[in-house]
Amino acid sequence: MSTWTQQDRNDIVKRLHDRGVNRPCPRCGSEQFSLLDGYAVFGLVDRLDDEGVRHLAPSVCVACSRCGYLTFHAMGALGLLNKDQPLPPNDAEKPE
Ligand SMILES: [Zn+2]
Repeated sequence: MSTWTQQDRNDIVKRLHDRGVNRPCPRCGSEQFSLLDGYAVFGLVDRLDDEGVRHLAPSVCVACSRCGYLTFHAMGALGLLNKDQPLPPNDAEKPE
């Protein structure tokens, strides 16, 4: 369950607007979008056959209200990260 407040949501939307994120949906042309509650986190690996996640790229997700097309915006670029993200807890004890 999300703990985002309306103020959190308004802040994220303002940050997107301040960066010129105002174009219609690239798939259907709709101009109605919804900010999804919660963060989408992408795991980055050094190689495709390496199962160890080295870095996390947290993002917020915006969905087109008509067709559901999803767009992701990295939180760092929005000024929402204060420091590097820690490794996932299970990565430190990865077996050899
Ligand atoms: Zn759309």
